[in-house]
Amino acid sequence: MSRIAFRSKILHFNDDPAHTGAPGTIMAYDDGVLVVEDGRIAALGTPEEMADLTRHIKVQHVPDALIMPGFVDAHVHFPQVDMIASYGKHLLDWLDHYAFPAEIGLTRFPARARDTAAFFLDELLRNGTTSALVFATSHAHTVDALFNEALKRNLRLISGKVMMDVHAPDDLLDTAASSYAHSKALIKKWHGKGRLGYAVTPRFALTSTEEQLELAGRLLHEFPGVLLHTHLCENTDEIARATELFPKACDYLDVYKCAGLLTNRSVFAHGVHLSEDERTALASAKAALAHCPTSNLFLGSGLFDLAATQEAGITLGLGSDVGAGTSLSPFATMSEAYKVAQLRGHSLSPYDAFYLATLGGARALHIDRHVGNFIPGNEADFVVLDLAATPLLKRRLGHANTFEQMLFALMILADDRVVRQTWVAGKLAHDRDA
Ligand SMILES: [Zn+2]
Repeated sequence: MSRIAFRSKILHFNDDPAHTGAPGTIMAYDDGVLVVEDGRIAALGTPEEMADLTRHIKVQHVPDALIMPGFVDAHVHFPQVDMIASYGKHLLDWLDHYAFPAEIGLTRFPARARDTAAFFLDELLRNGTTSALVFATSHAHTVDALFNEALKRNLRLISGKVMMDVHAPDDLLDTAASSYAHSKALIKKWHGKGRLGYAVTPRFALTSTEEQLELAGRLLHEFPGVLLHTHLCENTDEIARATELFPKACDYLDVYKCAGLLTNRSVFAHGVHLSEDERTALASAKAALAHCPTSNLFLGSGLFDLAATQEAGITLGLGSDVGAGTSLSPFATMSEAYKVAQLRGHSLSPYDAFYLATLGGARALHIDRHVGNFIPGNEADFVVLDLAATPLLKRRLGHANTFEQMLFALMILADDRVVRQTWVAGKLAHDRDA
């Protein structure tokens, strides 16, 4: 048995602070001890409470740090890491000019896919992200490349082959039948291997035929453990095109619903321009949304309505959506989510933001029985954040009088320099100072 322990400020959530004020929802320790045993959370409490458990081991004392669960990126595209920060387009042009060419590049050169996957995962860890729901490309070898690298790093990661049989460059097109067969083979090969999971991944309604969407629905039915991962209501031109291509559907979400893709295991990226009916349908299906504020601002897509989403009771996580998103840092995502909410007349509290970036994301991805908080028995994915990482942060936090004030300054000012260490299943996976 291997037991390790850390003493520091500690934060995690047992539930959603936006929906419950019950005691124990927010667990914040000014001075706490986290005990990890054989890669899992063993216990958490005050130094006095943990005295017996830590009597025979050396406790790593990091007083100027905050320890919290690893972050969860609920929507990101690994092939697009190579064209992050590409100038001047809205969604549909941006896909044609930047996203598709990047994906074609990986498709043609398997070695580049492996290299990009390795780089992408190391960047996640450097930013404190330990789990993610990830788009690959429409070619199975890019999924293999990502899963192989994720397996080496023992990450709890979910991905899938993009299904796309129409309205995209020839090099990226599959057919309804081939997308079904290749997805099925990938599910059998990867789903449940190590800590990996599979998501059936039609890109969005614009690049799939009705037949392909129906086959995606069949995969969900045949493999009840997998997720559905796609885009929804990101941009007004996209919505107009979706309803034009699928005239029988009463709205964009209905396109997916008709194909059996609106389920309690569905994760939809964006949802910027949802109607009330669509919000109600998402909530009653227990489907999840991934809010991607840096991407929505960068592409000029619109301002996500966080208050309406929370009011409807929709499960919500935060996504970087790199490459249209502008940072892999969860701090950038939280900071922009705060500003987008401000523009919609709503204040995103720091507790709500850190919840969404950890347990909220884990719930959206159905991995919350493994990760997302520090319940004993959970896999020990966590970060050690350096509260004195930059002179400005150190100075500002010197004026923070409460835990909440500290968290808010952190979510606005922090970046990858703050992530001192990232631990994955109880093993050190990233050490900033190494
Ligand atoms: Zn996306």
